Amino acid sequence: MLRIGCMAMMAVLSPLLEARDYRFSDAHLHYVDFFQESDGMEALQEKMQAAGIEHVMLSGVPVAKKWDEDEPKRPRYYAGDDANAYWYSATDVWVADAYKKLPANQRQYFHPFLSGFNPNDKNADAHIRRMLELDPGLWQGIGEIFTRHDDLTALIHGEAPRANNEALARVFHLAAEYDLPVLLHSNITSKRERNPLYLPEIEEPLRNHPHVRFIWAHAGTSMELHRHQVKLKFLYTNLERMLEQYPNLYIDLSWTMLQPYLLDEQGKPDAKWVKLISTYPERFMLGSDAVGQFDSLEETMKSFVPFLDALPEEVARRLSRDNFLQILPRNSKLQ
Ligand SMILES: [Zn+2]
Repeated sequence: MLRIGCMAMMAVLSPLLEARDYRFSDAHLHYVDFFQESDGMEALQEKMQAAGIEHVMLSGVPVAKKWDEDEPKRPRYYAGDDANAYWYSATDVWVADAYKKLPANQRQYFHPFLSGFNPNDKNADAHIRRMLELDPGLWQGIGEIFTRHDDLTALIHGEAPRANNEALARVFHLAAEYDLPVLLHSNITSKRERNPLYLPEIEEPLRNHPHVRFIWAHAGTSMELHRHQVKLKFLYTNLERMLEQYPNLYIDLSWTMLQPYLLDEQGKPDAKWVKLISTYPERFMLGSDAVGQFDSLEETMKSFVPFLDALPEEVARRLSRDNFLQILPRNSKLQ
């Protein structure tokens, strides 16, 4: 009886003993929301610890959603009403301030990215250069840059920003000069077109700026695209081709990538994606895409674990933590 009891106990314990202890880097986090408000640094640190997140990319949100004169209720999200959103540079002030207030021994875990500029303005690079010179060494990347972003694009008055426009070409030259990685949101298509309508817009800078490390936010997908199309049939083959073709392309697997791509409808890891990520073990990273609120960080990171467990341990470690740290500027790779 005793022996059976022991064996039963071992059977219960063994999955726990074998479980991998993941440490995370969150490669896509917004310190503020679309109203430029935040739970604050203390809350972020607490939730990072609970989630096992060691490092975070710390970005603002480059647009502010307006509470319009015509709107009776204050909106809670950019899609909450018809009011527009506008380019908002002060977002970087909040990020820099939060970072500077951290004790010196904590700063190594936070990686500020500069985002507050209009990607359609050919003066954007001049603004970014002034910001980089204002706080030398503070900014470790540029982004998240919003270009094609379905409904959000429609709410920003003026032309739709393209990843291959002239203003951004100037920004990418600056990124190369300062060795800064770029997190770029550029939808692969529109809500209704079931083909990669906008793909050439991101391929052009990948080709023209081989010295810039581009992180493609959600691999060109978005929640809004999924509402209309559920799963983009052409995503995998294009990604497979692009990873081979552009060594400077990195993929952020946050949010819309987990399901229906990495995990199938039953929550099982998709063998095709396991293969792709194992073939390019240094090119993928995880992110929460949290916007100003950090309560769900733990749940979000945990949701990646079934997929991570399906990868070889070394690949899983790179994906969950190391790859993000590897693409940071040379002078910030101290850890
Ligand atoms: Zn984002």
